[in-house]
Amino acid sequence: CYILAIESSCDDTACAILKNDKVLANVITNQKIHEQYGGVVPELASRAHQSNIVPAVDTALKKAGIKKSDLSAIAFTRGPGLMGSLLVGTSFAKSLAQGLDIPLIEVHHMQGHILAHFIETGNPKPTFPFLGLTISGGHTQIVKVTDYHNMEVLGTTQDDAIGEAFDKTGKILGLGYPAGPQLDKLAQKGNPYRFDFPIPKAPDLNYSFSGFKTAVLYFIQKETKNNPDFIAQNLEDICASVQHTLIEILFKKVEKAVKKTGIKQVAMGGGVSANSGIRKRLLSYQDKGWTVFIPPFEFTTDNAAMIGISAYFKYLEKDFASFDVTASPRIAM
Ligand code: ATP
Ligand code: FE
Repeated sequence: CYILAIESSCDDTACAILKNDKVLANVITNQKIHEQYGGVVPELASRAHQSNIVPAVDTALKKAGIKKSDLSAIAFTRGPGLMGSLLVGTSFAKSLAQGLDIPLIEVHHMQGHILAHFIETGNPKPTFPFLGLTISGGHTQIVKVTDYHNMEVLGTTQDDAIGEAFDKTGKILGLGYPAGPQLDKLAQKGNPYRFDFPIPKAPDLNYSFSGFKTAVLYFIQKETKNNPDFIAQNLEDICASVQHTLIEILFKKVEKAVKKTGIKQVAMGGGVSANSGIRKRLLSYQDKGWTVFIPPFEFTTDNAAMIGISAYFKYLEKDFASFDVTASPRIAM
């Protein structure tokens, strides 16, 4: 079957076309407009989706080399995400499916991040059950994945997501938005043991990052009072120490989850899995007998191919959405 998938939950307008579990086209239109504001502006995001969505779909069809009449189903992200952004993709998907008289399939954005591991790339795929580790700008979750349709969140953040922790501490250090990738680059040249930052407490397998950001802020305020050039003189070591601490926070709970469940397969997804230190750390657990999975970069950040693969497994079960379905900014997995 051919599935056209749309993802518009945040600030990227994405459209993918899959032939079964293979990706024929994976188009992403980034919205540059938000950079000047240092974060995503919801109103501007929904407007940009409005103007990007038709060209994105046309480009995807052209790249895939198929016609609209070849499509078997239309998939879309129902949530979670920004309401104004989700509405554009949801309404467009409904109209297209109705116009073509083919099934409509709704997908949960975070399930998409996890099922991205099943896109046919030639790489090995996880087997059930496995632990999904989704780390992004909006989420930090450890998920027990029983099959394509059943997932249980074992732990999640109680405040900021790990991507926000990277971005907000990066902002304190004067890095541009999003700061995560720049902080990663600088960290690679610094000493991760130079400065000590606290590891915030959170119950069980849950996370907390807001206290960490505040600790960095107070530390920087104190040091720059004595030496206004403190950041400039120590930037690489600060970044390395920040990154090192965030990695410790993240993997403490992943280790705990592996111990608790006895599941030694960990599949990582979400934009923050691009981080070099996090990748290295995850791979290091192979020595302890874990099997780990990191999808290609284009399928880890927000994309529509992950929505398409999730929809494919629903298509096989004839799990279609009703045409009165509505976008849901907060939706349980
Ligand atoms: P969600 O999927 O929860 O809706 P999102 O779509 O905003 O959130 P992604 O696009 O998956 O998230 O990821 C973006 C985040 O990834 C940003 O916070 C960015 O700083 C972070 N990020 C990207 N590359 C790196 C890196 N190399 N190191 C650290 N963080 C990174
Ligand atoms: Fe995402």
